[in-house]
Amino acid sequence: MKTDILIIGAGPAGTVAASMIKKAGLDAVIIEKEKFPRYVIGESLLPRCMDVLEDADLLKAVEKQNFQKKYGALFVRGKDECLFNFSDQHTDGWSWTWQVPRDEFDKVLADEVEKMGVDIRYENEVVDIDFQDEKQIVKVKNSDGEYEIESRFVIDASGYGRVIPRLLDLDLPSSLNPRSSMFTQVVDVNRSNTEVDNRITIIDAEPGVWIWIIPFSNGKTSVGFVAPPEFFEKYQGSNEERLRQMLADQELTADRFKDVEYAFDPIFIPGYSIAIKALHGKGWVVVGNATEFLDPVFSSGVTFALESGWKAGILAARMLNGEKVDWSEAYDKHLLQGVETFRTYVNAWYDDKLQTIFFAHNINPKIKRQICSVLAGYVWDKSNSYVRNHRNAVDTLVSLIKEGAI
Ligand code: FAD
Repeated sequence: MKTDILIIGAGPAGTVAASMIKKAGLDAVIIEKEKFPRYVIGESLLPRCMDVLEDADLLKAVEKQNFQKKYGALFVRGKDECLFNFSDQHTDGWSWTWQVPRDEFDKVLADEVEKMGVDIRYENEVVDIDFQDEKQIVKVKNSDGEYEIESRFVIDASGYGRVIPRLLDLDLPSSLNPRSSMFTQVVDVNRSNTEVDNRITIIDAEPGVWIWIIPFSNGKTSVGFVAPPEFFEKYQGSNEERLRQMLADQELTADRFKDVEYAFDPIFIPGYSIAIKALHGKGWVVVGNATEFLDPVFSSGVTFALESGWKAGILAARMLNGEKVDWSEAYDKHLLQGVETFRTYVNAWYDDKLQTIFFAHNINPKIKRQICSVLAGYVWDKSNSYVRNHRNAVDTLVSLIKEGAI
């Protein structure tokens, strides 16, 4: 079998890439090792996602699902609160997005691109690729055995599978300190259906330890801890016993999550951050989580998955349609602009600098709007000095607050 572009993985990065390829008049095949719907973590989107979904003709299908709308994000430390409202931001972008159970969200996107004519082969796994000059021979395994697909170009959207990084030895340890996560979804019987209770909340629990609360429209809520490995070692027993104890130990979660039913046994992910040596090569590009994953604190994972899948789909189609594409300039540089901006904010969160800004009581509204746009995922808007000069802007602001100048 032959195709123009073979995509590994039917997560958001893969399906958005497929849509852009189809729109450009080329054929795409997605090889997906799981059967959908399948669970994956990453449930809070950023407004930037909406622009990409719209351009990929996928927004309307998601709109029909009645997912929980997300208008902003609330950060809490003890009695201090900082609310970012996406309607009050620097960039002229979307003022809302969604909080989504990913099994449902990813299936909607996959079903939609199937309707566009993309061949999605579930329960098929890419096991090897023979990279050649003008074609790539992709080896696929399923319950009947192995077969090959000849493709002019391969997009690796395999997320945590990291197919091409593993085959070409591209994985790099992350520059960030090791952190782990434990999470589940609960039947959130103590939540009232108000904007306040339905809002995503990030609790800065203790140094280096934070909790997410992401309510869904189906009555369930995703709740998870992120912390250094030593934090999790303090808790003994089954994962459920450990997570129940962690939630009980925190003043801000103890009551709401006491005795609630868990939708599944909590999942523990040790050391989730990873980096990569190269984002593209001859005949291939890596997108989404298969590239670099920083940290979940600002919910940027799906935004990067969509942005990179969208960009890679457009560029790959252009190239196969005869245009010259400078991948380093048009893809790597674009993606890294966003990654580096978020890296500054992730580092500043773990250095406690961002909390100095978030919980300062008299922060200038213009500055807050600029930071809000970063948190909305508009990290390609260079008119925003908190994007353009991200590191200096954050450091200078923290110094001014500490000196009492603000
Ligand atoms: P995925 O959605 O993982 O899809 C990859 C697909 O590839 C899978 O379906 C898989 O089955 C398939 N695959 C893998 N290997 C193969 C193979 N060999 N052959 C065929 N198919 C294959 N992001 C957010 O935006 N918001 C959040 O709130 C958030 N919270 C997070 C919390 C934690 C603790 C962690 C670790 C991450 C979080 N993320 C979050 C990040 C998010 O999980 C990812 O960024 C996102 O799922 C990436 O999407 P993707 O399309 O790249 O990959």
